[in-house]
Amino acid sequence: MEFFKRRKQIVENLDRLGYIKYPAVKRAMLKVKREYFVSQETRFSSYIDMPLPIPGGVTISAPHMHAVFLSALKLKPGDKVLEIGSGSGILLAYIKEIVGERGKVIGIEYLPETYEFAKDNLKKAGYDKKVHLILGDGSNGLPEEAPFDKIISSASCKEVPKSWTDQLKAGGILVTPMGPSDGYQELIYIEKINSGRLIKKKLGGVVFVELKGKYGWK
Ligand code: SAH
Repeated sequence: MEFFKRRKQIVENLDRLGYIKYPAVKRAMLKVKREYFVSQETRFSSYIDMPLPIPGGVTISAPHMHAVFLSALKLKPGDKVLEIGSGSGILLAYIKEIVGERGKVIGIEYLPETYEFAKDNLKKAGYDKKVHLILGDGSNGLPEEAPFDKIISSASCKEVPKSWTDQLKAGGILVTPMGPSDGYQELIYIEKINSGRLIKKKLGGVVFVELKGKYGWK
């Protein structure tokens, strides 16, 4: 079966199962080609709903997890978004599709090997000039580009670094896994309401690689 048929099939399934919460997420997941963001050896598993190994000893998340993240962030056209731990780079492409031309999408990746992989993937998929990718430690966020409408961490933190919520605009949303790589992790949703107060919700158990760096697990 061709990739575009497999893509359509899995996205329809994720929609039916309730992982996709709004049409812009579905459109983005139908458009971005996941086969450009996986390693060559696993290309034929691109549309199986599981994480796959990528360079650096880390993983590209499963499609249903991307749907959960994108839906939780309530992305809007024009949003300025930071992803900490961009891995394959695929979420940057999905996010760019949703925030559009006026939006700004920045990813930060800690491992040089994974950063190079993401750069190549974004180029192949045609997003290299549309999103920004930085090599560095995102455990302190990205103060020089703050504030953000949305912040997403794709690596599991010990506790949510204060700098991340400080770098959120009023009305902004942060989504991150929290917990150790060898224990229970939970997906945490934080919304900064207009008074600056933070509202926290737990979105359920997940499995992610751990956040490294200065404010991570080291
Ligand atoms: N959304 C990505 C997930 C990649 S896994 C995808 O689906 O492809 C999480 C990534 O976080 C890994 O690439 C890991 O190297 C990175 N990471 C871990 N700690 C980090 C830190 N402090 N700063 C930036 N990236 C980090």
